[in-house]
Amino acid sequence: MVTDLLEEAGEVAAIVKGLEGFKPPEKPKTKEMLATELSDLLYIIFVIAEHYGINLEESFLQTVNDYILRFIK
Ligand SMILES: [Mg+2]
Repeated sequence: MVTDLLEEAGEVAAIVKGLEGFKPPEKPKTKEMLATELSDLLYIIFVIAEHYGINLEESFLQTVNDYILRFIK
């Protein structure tokens, strides 16, 4: 599962590089392609969380709260 996550992260990176012009893409990259790859990445994150019995919604909300507190100091 972790290798799947890394593979999906690589696909996201390749599309962002194409969108930003760092790497001439063999096929033009689009925001729709990025949305698909980000969704693939999010899916595998949910799969890993489920595998380990993690309540990802609760954890994510705590993380967002921590970021908010960090930036309002
Ligand atoms: Mg993908």
